[in-house]
Amino acid sequence: MLKSFSFIAALIIIAALALEDVIELQLAHKNRNEQRVAVSLQIATLRANIEKEIVDNLTTIHGVADFISVTPDIDQKKFTQYAYGALHSKTLLKNIGAAPDLIMSFVYPIKGNEKIIGVDYRTLPKQWPQVKHVRDSGKMLVAGPLSLIQGGTGLIGRAPVVVREGTKEKFWGIVSAVIDADQLFERVNFSGLKDLDIALRGVDGQGEHGEIFKGRGTLFSPESESIKMSVNLPSGSWIIAAVPKEGWITSSPISPYSRLLLASFTAITLVLTYKGMKKNHEIQRTRKSLNEAQAIARLGSWELDVRTDRLWWSDEVYRILGVAKEDVTPVTEEFFSMVHPIDRETVEKEFHDAILNQEPYSREHKIVRPNKEIRVIHGQGKGEYDTAGKLIRTTGTILDVTERAVAREKLRNEQAKIKAMAEASYDSLVMVDAKGIVLFWSPAAETMFGWSNEEAIGSEIHDLIAPLHYHEEAKSGLKEFALTGTGKVMESIMEFDALRKDKSIIPVERSVSSFQIDNDFFAVGILRDVTERKKLEKELTLLARTDKMTSLYNRGYFMELAEHEIDRSLRYNTSLAIIMFDADKFKNINDQYGHDIGDKVLIRIAETVTSVVRKADVVGRLGGEEFAVLLPETSMLDAQKVAEKIRVRIQTESIATPRSGNVSCTVSLGIAEFNESIGDVELLLKLADTALYRAKAAGRNRWECATMNDYHFNI
Ligand code: GH3
Ligand code: MG
Ligand code: MG
Repeated sequence: MLKSFSFIAALIIIAALALEDVIELQLAHKNRNEQRVAVSLQIATLRANIEKEIVDNLTTIHGVADFISVTPDIDQKKFTQYAYGALHSKTLLKNIGAAPDLIMSFVYPIKGNEKIIGVDYRTLPKQWPQVKHVRDSGKMLVAGPLSLIQGGTGLIGRAPVVVREGTKEKFWGIVSAVIDADQLFERVNFSGLKDLDIALRGVDGQGEHGEIFKGRGTLFSPESESIKMSVNLPSGSWIIAAVPKEGWITSSPISPYSRLLLASFTAITLVLTYKGMKKNHEIQRTRKSLNEAQAIARLGSWELDVRTDRLWWSDEVYRILGVAKEDVTPVTEEFFSMVHPIDRETVEKEFHDAILNQEPYSREHKIVRPNKEIRVIHGQGKGEYDTAGKLIRTTGTILDVTERAVAREKLRNEQAKIKAMAEASYDSLVMVDAKGIVLFWSPAAETMFGWSNEEAIGSEIHDLIAPLHYHEEAKSGLKEFALTGTGKVMESIMEFDALRKDKSIIPVERSVSSFQIDNDFFAVGILRDVTERKKLEKELTLLARTDKMTSLYNRGYFMELAEHEIDRSLRYNTSLAIIMFDADKFKNINDQYGHDIGDKVLIRIAETVTSVVRKADVVGRLGGEEFAVLLPETSMLDAQKVAEKIRVRIQTESIATPRSGNVSCTVSLGIAEFNESIGDVELLLKLADTALYRAKAAGRNRWECATMNDYHFNI
């Protein structure tokens, strides 16, 4: 390819060089024309100025002639008066003379011209033809230019003088004047035309045949290509010839800018050509690998000759259809016969309709290979039509999409399964995108949160179910999720309070997992309403902590709470007291009234104590008929008051029995106050127990305090 490109590149460069020459020539031609126009304009101006000056001077001469024609009896004096006026106006006349009957008789100024007075023109061989011409034609004439005796050059203007006698005109003579030619050329700014080489010819108004009196004679040769123009005189003419001093433009080199442009143009052409050739080269390579590519892509192409109904199939078409080249004659009927029976009618109809309506055909359908294997293909086709709309040919492709179709079918089944599961589940199934927008909202979610499927889809999940105070945190969590696909809520089970549409709050257990499709993360959440479970848990906890009969805290939980209170007392340096008490001679009550009455008495004791103590005090049943009250922020002294109150209140209570009247019961109480030296609950209880023992020993129905002795003893 490089070799052929070099050849073409050389051609392009030669063409560019030729183009440069053509441009140069064109440019020269244009510039030269412009140059000629410019020279012509200058010469035309010069000519006009010369003609004007000559006419001006001739007018003066003519004026003198006119003066004489009305004053035929002129004398030198009158002539001098008139001539003086004429010469001292702005004319270029050096002198003027009048020759009645062709004999020079008057002249002004006389000085220096005395010699010509009396000269008869007929005796001057040089001047006579001109004078004669003036006389015979009655027209003015300009002779010269010629060298003057006084120096310089001059033109001689001659005018006839005709005198009127009645109706007749009689030739009187002539008036001649010398016009200063040097000054004339100065006035027309001849020397100012510095750029031009100018020549003039036509002495005595002889035009082209006259002598050259200014400039180089060569300017009149055809080779000079000069601009020529004639200066019109009253009789005859002069010819001006001019060329530019620098000569005529013969070549116009392209400006550097234009050259650069041409070079760029050439370069671009070269690059484009190179690219074009490369593309061509690539097309050939592409053709070669098309077959391979088709095999990899599982894409076959076909072309139908509509006149013969013969199909051309690419190798891949045979492979997709599972037929050997030599086994089939590819005609359309052959192809349609391989379409799966369930699709055949539709495929055939759609294909023919599309071609008929000049629309592209595109359809996925099944085919059955000769070995009964079923494949799924995606067929595409389109017709090509002439301007009259007649079908010329049909081309298309078939793509083996079996794997894709199978996967899609599988996915569809999976999705159906998931949907069925979601619909059957009591748990809510919710799917959101990375922005928290709800994409799936199961029927259970509808009932759980009160938002319908229509309301939920497209809404932001937290706007639907998160309590207001949680929004901020949730949204920042989403941001993290959108970026990383993970976050606090991911892959973990958590409980939170969800807001329902009716603004009620329900405890919800949530497990969230995420997945990624392309670059986007999605999250699927299973949300379970745990209201019932929570209630049960609460009940269980309560059961575990309380005594069923009296509803007081049981020993275990009482001890737990006591520990908390000890911690608080230590932390805040507040006092803490405990009262322990035991029913007196309870065995007797049981024995006398029965166990049930005994129970009732115990329940009454519990109620009584609860009603006596403060809300912050903790009452517990330590076992049997033994109780304790924990009194936070209570000193020994205040605890004694409480103990006394308990003792009195219990003593006054009574339980009615069916047959044996009322039953009363007393209690003995032991009081202990917590201090840092005690350390734990067990020891505190032990101290109270010691005091209680003392109360029993002292006769019951009384309270005793743990003494310093008890403390020391126990430590
Ligand atoms: P003291 O004044 O020395 O405490 O005499 P007491 O009879 O109370 O002494 P003791 O501790 O020997 O007896 C306690 C009795 O309390 C024994 C038990 O049958 C009875 N009792 C313990 N728990 C219950 C209960 O839940 N219901 C009933 N009805 N009786 C109980
Ligand atoms: Mg007892
Ligand atoms: Mg007891």
